[in-house]
Amino acid sequence: MSQPQEFTFQTEIKQLLHILSHSLYQNREIALRELISNASDSLNKLRHIQLSEEQYRDGAPLEITLEPDKEAKLLVIRDNGVGLTHDELVQNLGTIAHSGSKEFLRSLSAKAEETGGETPSADLSLIGQFGVGFYAAFMLADRVEVVTRSYREQSGWRWESDGSGRFSITPVEGDVPRGAQIRLHLKDDMDEFTDPHRLKFIVRKYSTFVPHPIKLAEETLNEQKPIWVEPKNQVTEEQHTGFYQWLTHHSDESPLWHLHLSSDSPIQFHSILYCPPTNFELMGFGNIEHGINLCAKRILVQDDCRDLLPEYLRFLYGVVDSADLPLNVSRETLQDHKLLPKLKRVLVKKVLDHLASLAEEQPETFKTFYQQFGPILRTGIGQDFENRERIAKLMRFHSTHSVEQTPIVTGGEEKAALPAVSLDAYLQRAVEGQKQIYYLSGPDLNALSRHPHLEAFRKRHLEVLFLDDPIDEFALTQMRQYEKKDLISIDSSEVEFPESTNPPADEVLKPKPKNFTRVLELFRGALDSKVTDVLESSRLTESACCLVNPQGTMSNQLQKVLSHTMKDYESPKRLMEVNPHAALVTRLCELSNNSDNDEFIRDCGRQLYANALILDGMIPDVEETTTRAMKFMEELARTKTAIVI
Ligand code: ADP
Repeated sequence: MSQPQEFTFQTEIKQLLHILSHSLYQNREIALRELISNASDSLNKLRHIQLSEEQYRDGAPLEITLEPDKEAKLLVIRDNGVGLTHDELVQNLGTIAHSGSKEFLRSLSAKAEETGGETPSADLSLIGQFGVGFYAAFMLADRVEVVTRSYREQSGWRWESDGSGRFSITPVEGDVPRGAQIRLHLKDDMDEFTDPHRLKFIVRKYSTFVPHPIKLAEETLNEQKPIWVEPKNQVTEEQHTGFYQWLTHHSDESPLWHLHLSSDSPIQFHSILYCPPTNFELMGFGNIEHGINLCAKRILVQDDCRDLLPEYLRFLYGVVDSADLPLNVSRETLQDHKLLPKLKRVLVKKVLDHLASLAEEQPETFKTFYQQFGPILRTGIGQDFENRERIAKLMRFHSTHSVEQTPIVTGGEEKAALPAVSLDAYLQRAVEGQKQIYYLSGPDLNALSRHPHLEAFRKRHLEVLFLDDPIDEFALTQMRQYEKKDLISIDSSEVEFPESTNPPADEVLKPKPKNFTRVLELFRGALDSKVTDVLESSRLTESACCLVNPQGTMSNQLQKVLSHTMKDYESPKRLMEVNPHAALVTRLCELSNNSDNDEFIRDCGRQLYANALILDGMIPDVEETTTRAMKFMEELARTKTAIVI
């Protein structure tokens, strides 16, 4: 008799086992799903090997069998797939660092903190995605045996553990069939897992679409129907939901939308793509990393093919099945396959077109979609030159128009209404002769909607888009144009107003106050080192001044982002525009008659500049600004009287 070899589980796996064996009762169905899913993966691997290597073909059907034994309190899940060698048992079931176990634990503990301790079943259900599904066995069993023989070996091994921190591996004498048997010695309250009715129910619920027969006493429990090759109108919503749940391991969830595609030329393929209802990235699960299942004539070739969709559509799940793909491609040769980039091009175009029609036909669904996945989708503008306009069409913004329709909610935690203005809707409202699409960016919608730069645009009834996410501005800056109109930040000196919005020629222009040139001169002297120039403004109606970015300079918001990310970044100087008709400026013009007031006027110039910086979300020289404000207050206080008249 050979002696068992003893091993200790990696620390994270020990912690994981502890959580799993104490998990809530209703999570336990997940365990069966995970073990069936592993068996199915193993059968897929073997099928691949058999395609290219004749010596491993034996004609026996590839299948999964459930063998319950009520008396022995035992459930065996058996497959005749690739099996595991001694080293694979050590590596895959216990010791070699599984990055997935760490990540899964992290996501669980983050969730548990939010919910005050208990792990919600929806989160445990993600276990398969982290590559640690096997350990779910300890939800059902207090002792697990894996009896296995690798397709490359003549004899087999027994792996065994009670989940408490150690496992052992022993050689098995005698014949062991190829593949793996997961032998679950069920816990006391797990009788239902030896009940054939209950097992049937669970398999039908979670594993209908497993592409291999799942057998229980000669009966096949699952349909294994490749619904993607069926005609579109013959697939029911129920089937879609079932298939989605199987693909994503998200039980109790339906996809937000699906796209079922079939094409014969130029490439033959069938595909179903699903969009989940929520974005896990927004919930702090890190970057989504799954891919699409790639099949050749219904047989799975690769289950996480990342080459079929670009990064900015990484949230989609689904299957792509092409008869033009040889069955025996391997992961390595697949990368060089000419077909993939072609398939990818078609898929991307179809998805973006689908989203465009969703926006028209099901605006509510589109809204949810945009709220969840907009941040990922928008990064596509910088990544996918070819589809830039298509993606831009899907972007939504707040604007001067939309805040008039739905005022911004201020204070409290309440979020403003979802952005709803598309570039197309904007262009429909554009005025005659408008050559530019105007936007203003900043961190906060509320401040944006009050910005002095908007005055001239409001007066001329020109809509301005509000960009409150730097991604939006990066995207628009990269695009430069949409439908041949320049996208322009309204703090740029390159803004042009359409002629049709100029005030009528017969409208008598208010004369400029006397001495305005002198006031500008004084301001210039005071701000010499800070601005490129001080000039009269034609864009302001109320405010006294604003800062404008000279030609070709980035907008304030982009400059701010850069100054946060680059240590030595220095913002380029800006131009200060002054409104001659603002009450303060008019008064300063009067005061400038007397040169004794020069220093006061210069100080006002400096303070106006500081105020304008603050309005743009930047910080002026703190020491200087507060000292000056103090001086103003003191002077003003001196002019007040304490005598009550
Ligand atoms: P994942 O399957 O996501 O990699 P698991 O923890 O479920 O993570 O399984 C770990 C590894 O153990 C698998 O990658 C596979 O190599 C091996 N394994 C699990 N179950 C089987 C099985 N039934 N047959 C062969 N290998 C298996």
